[in-house]
Amino acid sequence: MKLLIKDAFVITMTSKDSPVVCRDIAIEEGMISHIGEVPSAFIPDKIIDGTGHIAMPGLINAHTHMAMSLLRNYADDLPLMEWLSEKIWPVEGHLNGEAVYAGTLLSLVELIRSGVTTYRDMYFYMEDVARATEAVGLRAVLGLGMVGVTDPEQKLLSQTKAFFHHWHLSCDGRIRVEVAPHAPYTCSDDYLKAAFELSQSLETTMHIHLSESLSEVKASYDTHGVSPVKHLEDLGVLNKHVSAAHCVHIDQKDIEILKQHGVSVLYNPSSNLKLGNGFAPIAQLMEAGVNVAIGTDGSASNNNLNLFEELHLAALVNKGVTGDPTALPAYKVLEIATINGAKALGIDHLVGTLEVGKRADLILIDLEKPHLVPHHDLVSAVVYSAAATDVSHVICDGVVLMEDYEFTCLDEKNVMTQAKLEASKLIKRHKGGVE
Ligand SMILES: [Zn+2]
Repeated sequence: MKLLIKDAFVITMTSKDSPVVCRDIAIEEGMISHIGEVPSAFIPDKIIDGTGHIAMPGLINAHTHMAMSLLRNYADDLPLMEWLSEKIWPVEGHLNGEAVYAGTLLSLVELIRSGVTTYRDMYFYMEDVARATEAVGLRAVLGLGMVGVTDPEQKLLSQTKAFFHHWHLSCDGRIRVEVAPHAPYTCSDDYLKAAFELSQSLETTMHIHLSESLSEVKASYDTHGVSPVKHLEDLGVLNKHVSAAHCVHIDQKDIEILKQHGVSVLYNPSSNLKLGNGFAPIAQLMEAGVNVAIGTDGSASNNNLNLFEELHLAALVNKGVTGDPTALPAYKVLEIATINGAKALGIDHLVGTLEVGKRADLILIDLEKPHLVPHHDLVSAVVYSAAATDVSHVICDGVVLMEDYEFTCLDEKNVMTQAKLEASKLIKRHKGGVE
């Protein structure tokens, strides 16, 4: 399949100095073959008119729990530990593969509508998450969420291994599998070490929650005498293939540790604010040279997967908190949502920028909207003015998944119907009723 996008304002994310240029993009067999002058020998099977549109790399949602969409607006306005232990975990105990499949499909629809072409998921029933992703055509890095203190939970390590061997680099490389221990407060030290060793032996990435709430940090000092970040360093489980979600409550020493080991930080502004956890010191982390990516977290703590909302918040919160309007400028915000996400996921050789030879994961944003006119600075337009509903086209691995706001790959109404059904069955099981 040969695809040509004509006359778009292209933001390649490769040049901060001249971020926007009007160009054509040629795509062949899922790969970007030309940007700019496309040779006349290139005969496309399909042409998309990019006039009046921005073309940019597909966004990367670097931290989420897709099937939590079934618990959207189920439990709100609570602190993290109470929210998790009294509301979320008891219901999650009644999940099954069908529920996770339906919830994941619902989230995939939402991700595509908000311009995301790659996401990273940590959850349960990951075979079903992978099947949904395979069916829809997005790119994903998937990890089975592992909570473990004692021997019986070792089975999650073997399940991760089996899941890896079944799905890693499947679907033409679109699906990757990683190791995902939930957090230092839900995994014993030995368990964390075993998870890290597994990630090393499989030569894949590791994904963990870290220093999300003040109570987690306090408990770490009470138990180990050090911060959660330092505790992981002491266990020897940090390196450049590790990504830590949140890192809200960290100090200067923690930042140095994260930098020294090349750990990526996954920023989730909505979730952190909504759970009353605060705001991660993103500007300081980036200044120290830590790779920062961005995510939505799950829909139960956000309560949506709209990455544009996260970009907007990331920019505004960091200016407000630091008292410095130059903190986190628009181009840097776009970097954290594209190339930095790709680096955190270990796939920056494939995606994250629009470059010849990279996979064709890109989106078009419709500029002919009142809130996007006039077009003085299109990078600012994406970060400060655009909404998810302005994404008109989504292309992943060269396949057009959404064209002129219409899905080519799924029946949106049916997905919503199934999700509503599975959500009500889940709550009935939780309450001990008959389905
Ligand atoms: Zn999370």
